[in-house]
Amino acid sequence: MRRGRALLAAALVLALGGPAHASPDERELGRTFLLEARAELPLVADPAVREYVEGIGNRLVKVLGPQPFDYRFFVVQDPSLNAFSVPGGFVFVFTGLLARVKNDDELAGVLGHEIGHAHAHHIVRMETQTMGWSAAQLLGMVLSAVNPVLGAGAVAAAQTAQLKYSRDFEQEADYLGLRFTSEAGYDPHALGSFFKTLLADQQVNPTSVPAYMLSHPLTEERVAKVDTIIGAEKLKTPPGRPAASPALAEVRAVTRAIAGPVDTVVDEYKRQAEQKPDDAGRQFLLGRIYQTVGQLGAARAALEQAQKLGGLGERVDRPLGTVYADLKMPEQAEAALGRYLGRHPDDGYALLQMGKAQAAAGDDDGALKELERAIIVDPDLEEAQRLAGLALGRRGNEADGFYHLALASRLRGDLVQSLSQFERAAPLFATGTPRKQEVEQAIAELRPIVAEMEREREAQRRRGRSGLDARRGR
Ligand code: ZN
Repeated sequence: MRRGRALLAAALVLALGGPAHASPDERELGRTFLLEARAELPLVADPAVREYVEGIGNRLVKVLGPQPFDYRFFVVQDPSLNAFSVPGGFVFVFTGLLARVKNDDELAGVLGHEIGHAHAHHIVRMETQTMGWSAAQLLGMVLSAVNPVLGAGAVAAAQTAQLKYSRDFEQEADYLGLRFTSEAGYDPHALGSFFKTLLADQQVNPTSVPAYMLSHPLTEERVAKVDTIIGAEKLKTPPGRPAASPALAEVRAVTRAIAGPVDTVVDEYKRQAEQKPDDAGRQFLLGRIYQTVGQLGAARAALEQAQKLGGLGERVDRPLGTVYADLKMPEQAEAALGRYLGRHPDDGYALLQMGKAQAAAGDDDGALKELERAIIVDPDLEEAQRLAGLALGRRGNEADGFYHLALASRLRGDLVQSLSQFERAAPLFATGTPRKQEVEQAIAELRPIVAEMEREREAQRRRGRSGLDARRGR
């Protein structure tokens, strides 16, 4: 995690050199953070999980009106109970937290609070308030929110500086988050009930403090203040709230399967399905569990059973089509995905699976067309970029092949590889074309980051050797 530190530090200095609300620099800082963090933050690719979080997040963002930056939501594949945002509107929520929320409103409360931190520029303002901190410490602080072990271990200078918001900033984020959630039609009380769950857990098990409570310090007083704000601002609970959309049960199944232990989670969902064998919903969740842990044969059986029992509409088609594509059963995959795409023609994930199914059937042209459509809808689909790059390379289109492979490597956080692929693509595009420009910009962005990474690696190697020498008493 050390790599790129100086670059990010430079970005911070830029951000801090201007006024506290220097939004373009915050956007830049957030983007650099995302580029570097992707290698350390495994993001969830499951479309149901992504759509659930993005749906609630985007509904909250709508009430903000025009903003200096676009908000983006990411789900980190990590069992710890955590959520954080970085400057520039990048909001991260961990699967460990998703597995614990009881309804949509609790997640809206958490996301609203994170939007509040980004909206009020808290991280940047923290630095300006405590002038004693170096920019490197500030970076270490952000990294330690990503992964307390990695952050503290890797950035020695920042060992004590874990991301920890002040009481004032927590209250401001609570205040803003409560207003956003209420205006977006969610129950503002859900934030308080989520906090109460965390505090109750804490009393039962005082030794394990969730990462979320370390960065967002939680006290009885703060929880009481949430109720005070709701009363003072006359925030209403909309009719029918709080409520859990059907997607939440699916999200909980997938996130619990990711967190494991696999046997325990499989057994639990299997038992529930066996108790009510005619319940399509329970078969569906069992199928999603098996799919997530990679037991594809069992996933296929459960999802087919859910489909047969009926009543779930199109929800079964996308995961079932995905399982068929992974099992190299192209005919069945194309039928299920075709049904889904008939209703959702712009679903990037389903287009990607359709491309894989057609490749399995030996239709390379058809496969490439589907992959290219998937990329247009969702350029962040790493697998679509990678498969399109390989397919283009196979047919001799080296320029576009390397271009898509470079994008895929960047999405995986493999920046050295990405830079090298962009550099191979660059001379193959004609001067003045938009793609040539895009490739040159990507190279200009990646070169200093990669150079810094190499300097860091070299320095670490030297430090490692001198540490060894010291231990040997030389
Ligand atoms: Zn907070």
